[in-house]
Amino acid sequence: MKVKADFYNTARKFSETYSEFTHMGPFAKILIGSISVAYFAVKWTAPSFDPGSLKGARVLVTGASTGIGEQMAYNYAQFGARIVITARRENILQQVAEKCLSLGAQEALYIAADMASESDPDKVVDFALDKLGGLDYLVLNHIGSTPFSMWSGEVDHVRWLMKVNFFSYIQMAWRALPSLEQSKGSLVIVSSLLGKMPGPFTAPYASTKFALNGFFGSLSHELAMKKSNVSVSICTLGLIDTESAMEKVRGVVNVPAYPAAEAALNIIKAGATRQLELYYPWFTQIITLCKDWFPSSSNFFIQNSYNYNP
Ligand code: NDP
Repeated sequence: MKVKADFYNTARKFSETYSEFTHMGPFAKILIGSISVAYFAVKWTAPSFDPGSLKGARVLVTGASTGIGEQMAYNYAQFGARIVITARRENILQQVAEKCLSLGAQEALYIAADMASESDPDKVVDFALDKLGGLDYLVLNHIGSTPFSMWSGEVDHVRWLMKVNFFSYIQMAWRALPSLEQSKGSLVIVSSLLGKMPGPFTAPYASTKFALNGFFGSLSHELAMKKSNVSVSICTLGLIDTESAMEKVRGVVNVPAYPAAEAALNIIKAGATRQLELYYPWFTQIITLCKDWFPSSSNFFIQNSYNYNP
């Protein structure tokens, strides 16, 4: 009986979505058509990625002991970059750095740091500037661990997570900006679909990602208005198959996960081609648009993709 009810609910929502579209005025339809054409035009004319441009590039990657950050370190290594990696666990960083050297990195250094600390974000940037003699890429990717559950009032946790996922990002970006300005460098911010479209069980995490999008979106305008040499790339990712993400969503969300190595390569390309925004996988961009165009249907699909029995 429940399956039948779910089927009818879904069918009803599909027909509501269709009807939302057919009831749009001609202006809205032309607008949607024009946006689609513009989207494909931008895709076709985007600058192409030159792997040679990363040979000898001076890169700092945060959150590089595991997951997407680790994969980015290996990708930069294969392109012959000079890398500094950071996270809290020194012994794992050492192993990642050794593998980077074996993959072709010109240099691979590491520094252990806790991004919840007031001073560690500056310490890490200063270490990279000192050891590499400047920076071409600052890739901000780390996140603190957070529960995947209903919000139940843990205000101190949100305060701590804001320090790790947000305040450390703006602190490091500010510290590295003069060097990036000199090198015509790039600031790469790893964000999430949940920073554009909140979902259940992620209130603290989504808040930090919304904050990142707001801050770096604004900074990107200011740098462009000042005719700065620095590019800002904000990367919006869907579900990626890292161990920490899979552990959380297993059995709760039925959404396909995409490979961390491919996500990492796409982020690197976005930085190297000075792309303002990256959406990976590509359809995350469509999802963000659907949220604004078909809000009630989007909410229905979001809430029904979670297994939850109150
Ligand atoms: P992981 O949990 O796999 O890795 C997180 C990294 O951050 C680790 O290297 C960890 O190392 C480090 N870290 C954790 N706490 C701290 C801290 N207090 N100080 C310094 N470093 C810390 O994350 P993912 O690879 O899954 O995610 C990477 C990025 O991609 C994040 O910005 C995330 O929001 C984004 N993203 C990921 C998605 C996914 O589905 N995986 C989806 C959308 C966005 P250590 O424990 O050694 O400190």
